[in-house]
Amino acid sequence: MGQILARSEGTSAAAKWSGIDGASYYTPGVLDLVRNAPLYHLQRQLGTGWCLPWAFTVSVLSGCNARCRTCHIHRLPDRRLSLEACARLGRGLRRPAGWLTVSGGEPFLRDDLAAVVERLVEGLGPRLINIPTNGSFPEAVQRVVGQLVHRFPRRQFIVNVSLDGVGDEHDALRGLPGSYDRACETLAVLRALAERRPNLVVGIHSVISRFNVERFPAICDALLALGPDSLVAEVAENRAELVNETLAIAPDPEPFARAVAHLERRTRRRTAPRLARLVRWLRRTYHDDVLRWLEGGSMGRSCFAGTASCHVMPDGTVLACGVRGAVLGQLEAFDYDLAALWRGPQARRVRRQIAAERCSCPLANQAYVNAALDPRTPLRLLRLGLADRWREWQRRPVPGTTERDR
Ligand code: SF4
Repeated sequence: MGQILARSEGTSAAAKWSGIDGASYYTPGVLDLVRNAPLYHLQRQLGTGWCLPWAFTVSVLSGCNARCRTCHIHRLPDRRLSLEACARLGRGLRRPAGWLTVSGGEPFLRDDLAAVVERLVEGLGPRLINIPTNGSFPEAVQRVVGQLVHRFPRRQFIVNVSLDGVGDEHDALRGLPGSYDRACETLAVLRALAERRPNLVVGIHSVISRFNVERFPAICDALLALGPDSLVAEVAENRAELVNETLAIAPDPEPFARAVAHLERRTRRRTAPRLARLVRWLRRTYHDDVLRWLEGGSMGRSCFAGTASCHVMPDGTVLACGVRGAVLGQLEAFDYDLAALWRGPQARRVRRQIAAERCSCPLANQAYVNAALDPRTPLRLLRLGLADRWREWQRRPVPGTTERDR
């Protein structure tokens, strides 16, 4: 969501939704989530399925061409979510979803990816569509993303190229020789596309693991020099969906704190517009929470996985989240009626379990949904905002002094 807020246009011409929820469709998607916060809080406690998910992560396939040190998803058989499932997924929704992440495996391995995303967008009606890629297929990215941003001119697309290092170091982390150069090519293609299409944001996504955390400040500088619209970092974590539960990949807290402090310094723009500042502060709260989690604490927020968000796997299994892997139901068993699945006994049970166990993890997508639903978030953002203002005031140009004096 950090990136999402940065350049959200938040409108759509989708016929399915325009007659149903026309007015609110033009409000930014996040406001929809916040507006329904009391219902989501109640749903989380009681387990009910009145409120359908606001955020969807859809893994459209499990296959991947990379062999990352932090992820073993390539060990799974290559299953693919059918076009029919993609088209029917949103059938029972009464209002458009806010945020769709099209995930994998590597999504661009699918020849029919454009059709897959079109079906999902038409069915779910999200304002914001996030597509991560390892950047191995610049030609496919150009073709598919070009088609999508043209087909849905009033939706916000965010394509994140995953880069965890520079040159050979990145290739070694990916287990894929030449992948850094291909990813740079993909970035260049996307940037050229974004020049012509304002509904496309081009980002770099980095996973900070124990393998790159010490060098991350230098990596961060090199990646920013590639000119992305945004650079976001996520901590490496064990997730059921990535088949990496037994890998020791999380960084130590101290170097992680240094890494994110550097990232925050380098991405701070004094003249940033108001919304971009808000996004920056939101990311800082995420980094602070992750640091606390790495030190053995909790993220400090209630988790709304399975309550306000869900993860659809390539075989049609709907999970609360990809980390815990708790199954809410199988789409096929409910004739692809997500609303029925959402209200089903298993989904209710999982929801109550997550609330009772106070589950906590640093999954970034989920953390931003949780932050939006946390009533303490505005106060935290205000505090960060005031601290920023104070710092800027202290550094204001004073006649007769130089930058160094300040
Ligand atoms: S904290 Fe939320 S996202 Fe993380 S494992 Fe638990 S339920 Fe899943």
